[in-house]
Amino acid sequence: LAVKGVQALSPYQPGKPISELARELGLNPSEIIKLASNENPLGPSEKAVAAVEHALTDLCLYPDGNGFELKQKLSARLGVGADQITLGNGSNDVLEVIARCFAGSDSEVVFSQYAFAVYPLVTQAIGATPVTVPAKDWGHDLDAMAAAVTEHTRLVFVANPNNPTGTVHDADAIEAFLGKIPEDVLVVLDEAYCEYMTGKKDPDGVALLNRFPNLIVCRTFSKAWGLAGLRVGYSLSSPAIADILNRVRQPFNVSSVALAAATAVLDDEDYLQRSRAANAAGLKQLEEAFDQMGLRYIPSSGNFIAVEVGPQAMGVYQALLAHGVIVRPIAGYGMPNHLRVTVGLPAENEHFIDALSKALAAAG
Ligand code: PMP
Repeated sequence: LAVKGVQALSPYQPGKPISELARELGLNPSEIIKLASNENPLGPSEKAVAAVEHALTDLCLYPDGNGFELKQKLSARLGVGADQITLGNGSNDVLEVIARCFAGSDSEVVFSQYAFAVYPLVTQAIGATPVTVPAKDWGHDLDAMAAAVTEHTRLVFVANPNNPTGTVHDADAIEAFLGKIPEDVLVVLDEAYCEYMTGKKDPDGVALLNRFPNLIVCRTFSKAWGLAGLRVGYSLSSPAIADILNRVRQPFNVSSVALAAATAVLDDEDYLQRSRAANAAGLKQLEEAFDQMGLRYIPSSGNFIAVEVGPQAMGVYQALLAHGVIVRPIAGYGMPNHLRVTVGLPAENEHFIDALSKALAAAG
């Protein structure tokens, strides 16, 4: 019954839930370590939790459909107009609304091999033609992506940093790329992991918005801000694009509780800094362990890392599960030899590394 594009799509594969594995192993959920969904290992910000508790008294009311307060805060923080912001139920929601607004069944949508799984999903769901451009050194080949744009292309998705590879392009490369894309083709620069970037020339799509009216930057509260469960993301664009997105999104797509938490967490700079510091330390811990074990990995700018464990990756994944550790197999992304591991707390990383050594030894 479904239309052609919908029939062709493979569903998004989330990480295995903790409760499911705990049941299977007969363990307490607190004994399971989940490093599979790029969640923030610190737990939520106390300021966000307090705001949620406060917001509970208004559960019987619809949320502010325009997200006024959150947009004011974002606007002040990022130096953009509130009329440039579109809020979403997670940034996945915004990605989907963008596809629905700007592409159709006669359109081509360009993205990279190994790019975030939601791009092909939203493309196929609207019956558009996905154009997958081969990756270069696991990352986006921006020149090849620009060259793949045809008169039928309406959208180009660039994840920077990319999930699941963790690869990133610097500000100059992104700017040069945008310079090659025709103005009537929209570029979605997905910066879900941008808060983890610590280099001198971190990409910052926001700084490019004025120069490129066809640019949409997407960000999220799910990662460094630690609110994945509440689902809040947003896009930044020209006011004209935001106006269109805001017409099409669901009128109350972000819940009152989510709005309250996101608004409050923006005042918790300490939480953000702790997220960044913990991630940098955890990445280092994992990289050093992989080096010692002689495992190759893709250097990452996100809160996760793709490690090469060989053709037996599925077996290693299963063995890790048996040790109570959930990571993410990424064969579905075309990376059957890698596992993607989210950066955890030091003890979680340690536990994972220990389980990985045993799993690899058992796999021979
Ligand atoms: N973009 C990228 C590159 C991601 O990895 C993710 C999360 N997996 C998202 C967007 C969506 O995040 P959310 O919907 O939680 O905002």
